[in-house]
Amino acid sequence: MFILKIGGSSGINYDLIADDIAALVKNGEKMVVVHGGSALTNEVAEKLGHPPQFVTSVSGYTSRRTDRRTLEIFEMVYCGQMNKGLVEKLQSRGVDAIGLSGLDGRLWEGKRKAAIKIVQNGRRRVLRDDFTGKVERVNTDLLDLLLSAGYVPVLTPPAISYDGEAINVDGDRAAAATAIALGAETLVILSNVPGLLEEFPDEHTLIRHIPAQSLDKFMAVAQDRMKKKVMGAQEALAGGLTRIIFADGRVENPVRRALNGEGTVIE
Ligand code: ADP
Repeated sequence: MFILKIGGSSGINYDLIADDIAALVKNGEKMVVVHGGSALTNEVAEKLGHPPQFVTSVSGYTSRRTDRRTLEIFEMVYCGQMNKGLVEKLQSRGVDAIGLSGLDGRLWEGKRKAAIKIVQNGRRRVLRDDFTGKVERVNTDLLDLLLSAGYVPVLTPPAISYDGEAINVDGDRAAAATAIALGAETLVILSNVPGLLEEFPDEHTLIRHIPAQSLDKFMAVAQDRMKKKVMGAQEALAGGLTRIIFADGRVENPVRRALNGEGTVIE
């Protein structure tokens, strides 16, 4: 059993990924899929006249500013087209996929941030109307039920706060939390890059192997959104996973390639 996180950046080939999942499932592999949807959300938000905004936290992490309207658009895309689109691709290939958000059955529970401290134009600001948080609890009973009945769960943010509100959470870190809760050994993270690049965007500078104990040093290599992936990997390792692989989601057989060690292998 492994966890497969599929990114939402442009260029990722969902047909090739679905082909590969179908082949693995035919071989009796079990997995939980987690997906993103950032590029399409940006596009739809522009079209709806509520352009995306990104904020940088005091500690240097970038995240989507999620006011109520953004949350609605986020749900349209993540829970709608992205989730159902992926379920359809899998169902048409004979995979009995079931799509759920973190809200459903309180699958991903966590605390909504009361305030987020950001830096804007060099100044510190506090946002209080943001619907964001972090997954702290995973409903493994629900996932076990689905897995033992032969379904492939396809999970998407948002998560749910302890008060029952939808909260935007980082997909990579949610995937890590899911992997830890299920006791999985391997987490595969597919994106639109071959892995962690020493000198982004030069794809010839792929870092192939990172021993778990030196992952900290690589935080500096990751810029903007890649930082969250490295953070997710750190959390996954701390939670007992033995292998996290950042790999290319644009190529043929992307999942099997990743499982065979193509990409950045952290172990
Ligand atoms: P996804 O939505 O697919 O999960 P993100 O867009 O959140 O992916 O993160 C992947 C992006 O991180 C890449 O497309 C790239 O622009 C950026 N990035 C920043 N630094 C690096 C790096 N050192 N190596 C690889 N990608 C990087």
